[in-house]
Amino acid sequence: MPKSNAQRALVVGAGIAGLTTAWWLDRAGWDVLVVEKAPSFRAGGYMIDFFGPGHEVARRMGLLPALESRRAPISSVTSVDSSGRRRGEISTAAYEAVADGVISLLRGDLAEVVLADLDVPLRCGTTVLAVNDGVVTFADGSVDEFDLIVGADGIHSSVRELVFGPSSSFVRYLGHHTAAFSFRDPVLSSRIGYRYQMLTVPHRMIGCYAVRGGAVAALMLYRSESQAVPADAASALRARFGDLGWVTPSLLSVVPEDVYYDEVSQVDMTTWHRGKVVLVGDACGAVSLFAGHGASLAMTGAHVLVEELSAGVDGAFERYQARMKPAVAHTQEFGRRFIGWMAPASSWRISLRDMAFRLSGWPVVRNLVRGSLMPDIDGVLTRA
Ligand SMILES: Cc1cc2nc3c(=O)[nH]c(=O)nc-3n(C[C@H](O)[C@H](O)[C@H](O)COP(=O)(O)OP(=O)(O)OC[C@H]3O[C@@H](n4cnc5c(N)ncnc54)[C@H](O)[C@@H]3O)c2cc1C
Repeated sequence: MPKSNAQRALVVGAGIAGLTTAWWLDRAGWDVLVVEKAPSFRAGGYMIDFFGPGHEVARRMGLLPALESRRAPISSVTSVDSSGRRRGEISTAAYEAVADGVISLLRGDLAEVVLADLDVPLRCGTTVLAVNDGVVTFADGSVDEFDLIVGADGIHSSVRELVFGPSSSFVRYLGHHTAAFSFRDPVLSSRIGYRYQMLTVPHRMIGCYAVRGGAVAALMLYRSESQAVPADAASALRARFGDLGWVTPSLLSVVPEDVYYDEVSQVDMTTWHRGKVVLVGDACGAVSLFAGHGASLAMTGAHVLVEELSAGVDGAFERYQARMKPAVAHTQEFGRRFIGWMAPASSWRISLRDMAFRLSGWPVVRNLVRGSLMPDIDGVLTRA
């Protein structure tokens, strides 16, 4: 129900950042509309590890029990060779020390939990064609006016493109492509188990793990000089990974036509706002899967933005950016250093990483692994 006399906000994108922003805006008394380009809400997707400040934001929203109920009990990370033999594993003890409080769940499950607790209109199959300060033209030709427009439409943000200019000015390509999908296969699911198992060869990584309901989730990552994604992603994956052993042939035989496939990039912008428009989440600060904290930062940014708006609209965008940008930049820098862990460039680097996995039960190594997995960004939730 529209709130009479309330300020009107448009949120573009029903992902983690958009839904969380809508949640906090609604609680703060704004009249909110969310529009989403996809024809229906995007459920499922790839597995994420959710922790850090976003976990605290979810606690403040009262959503932790619902998130816990969707948790996938991933217990370890195992590197295997092309016959499936174990090369190295982060021990359970080390993994628990590293991943203390982490909730592993599907990206869509996190978004769905926020959506289930949200009482604002969501219009799917809609996007924006023009944004002129507060005036928005939608894809169906209708025009409406808002006091606030939040671009939460992800790494390829249209709002950013319309208001701030071409993506090429802001996107930092990290030299890799990635793909993720899941499929039902109870036999493979129980064989793999709730362990993230991966096969790494120089510049290529393919991994999988069991998810609920007898399903398997797969993740692929490879180096590509070209930033442009191929028109036929499934064929490109078969060409790239077709020579690898282990369960690779099984995974490649079920790549869906609509597989999630994208370049791996970060977004780096000097300013996240213009007039009544502000960006949140990956749209202004994608950190990439190498950094692994994007969902957490998306929720944190949403919360910090509304906290600052509630403290006073004048200067709110500047205060929001001043709090968030250092944490985003720190995480991005951490992500770039992590490329060598996830997609090592040579056989000896793969061996070195696997040795670190094997030694991860040792407290010294465990602390090193922990330090290399956790950027220190928790302070972002503290208001000056
Ligand atoms: C393989 C992989 C693994 C990852 N692992 C982790 C992890 O372990 N931990 C972690 O914290 N993060 C992880 N991330 C990052 C995390 O998923 C993202 O940072 C997070 O989803 C960003 O949320 P967002 O809402 O900003 O963007 P998105 O999740 O991309 O949502 C954007 C939404 O906007 C919609 N949209 C797009 N364009 C338009 C438009 N023009 N109009 C209307 N709607 C539009 C999209 O359909 C989508 O629903 C991972 C990412 C990948 C790819």
